Amino acid sequence: MKIFYSETHRRHNPPFEIFDGGLRVPYLENPDRMDRILAALHRVGWTEIYEPSDFGLDPILAVHDREYLDFLASAWTEWLASAPQDPSTLIPATFALRRQPRKPASLLGRAGYYIMDLSACIVEGTYPAALASANCALNAAQAVTEGERSAFALCRPPGHHAGRDYAGGYCFINNAAVAADWLSAKGRVAILDVDYHAGNGTQGIFYERGDVLTISIHADPNFEYPHFIGFAEERGKGQGLGFHHNFPLSAGTGDAEYLHMLDSALAVIREFAPAFLVISAGMDIYADDPLGTIKVSTQGIGEIGRRIASLGLPSVIVMEGGYANEALGRNILAFLSNFNS
Ligand SMILES: [Zn+2]
Repeated sequence: MKIFYSETHRRHNPPFEIFDGGLRVPYLENPDRMDRILAALHRVGWTEIYEPSDFGLDPILAVHDREYLDFLASAWTEWLASAPQDPSTLIPATFALRRQPRKPASLLGRAGYYIMDLSACIVEGTYPAALASANCALNAAQAVTEGERSAFALCRPPGHHAGRDYAGGYCFINNAAVAADWLSAKGRVAILDVDYHAGNGTQGIFYERGDVLTISIHADPNFEYPHFIGFAEERGKGQGLGFHHNFPLSAGTGDAEYLHMLDSALAVIREFAPAFLVISAGMDIYADDPLGTIKVSTQGIGEIGRRIASLGLPSVIVMEGGYANEALGRNILAFLSNFNS
């Protein structure tokens, strides 16, 4: 299986994030996650790891706002120039309540406008890392159009919380959305998001499009991040009406219940009959994940992969979350190995 991975992610390594309640903790979305996965991928004989080629900004601008990308590109330099008390990471403390339409001119104003929470911390290497991550997804998409049955984009930072013009949930550029939009020029695309958290960014980007089916299975936003989006009644809008589906899960959901929900999601994909499948593969559904509340086992993750692979679609697998670092390697292998035949 072709795997696309860039070392550039290491340049994005914020020193901390802030949890609900104000607790300052070491950044959970850290480079060690990739090292665990790489070690596992090197242990098996069926993986070939490639450096991604650069697709340029056009496929990224197809799903993201230019002024937002300009903000990401210049934020760090502007942050240092503003002589902050603690320069270690750009993290705003004032946010655009209900997305007021006026964009402020100041750096902290724009940061509060373009960032949704206290986990999308910006450091010197954030923008190049986000670009390289998107290129991993684009290279994996290209590989399946060239005849690969599947390809894995080992993306860091992850992407599914990033919307057209905002960062959040450790995400800056929506890698799965960039890949899906690029593929949509060649045929209908379905995105299946199995990360523990609702794929709010992906939902927003495609909400009014009927050519890209988006499905997210996730912890119910009534109790879990991202809190404001990902409810079952959100089904798309305009031409996209009926082409978005959320499958919210209760805390404590185990393998059997999860797989039952997955079967409903897979039925929707079969009916849509896409040419390509993009999978937002978050491993934070795992029972021991520090950010999760559901209880899917490694074996369950393997079965999820097997059922998705049984769709028989050319599949782009995009890495999203997963913070039980010690288990990440074996969980990813359990998932990916189903696509390797
Ligand atoms: Zn997640």
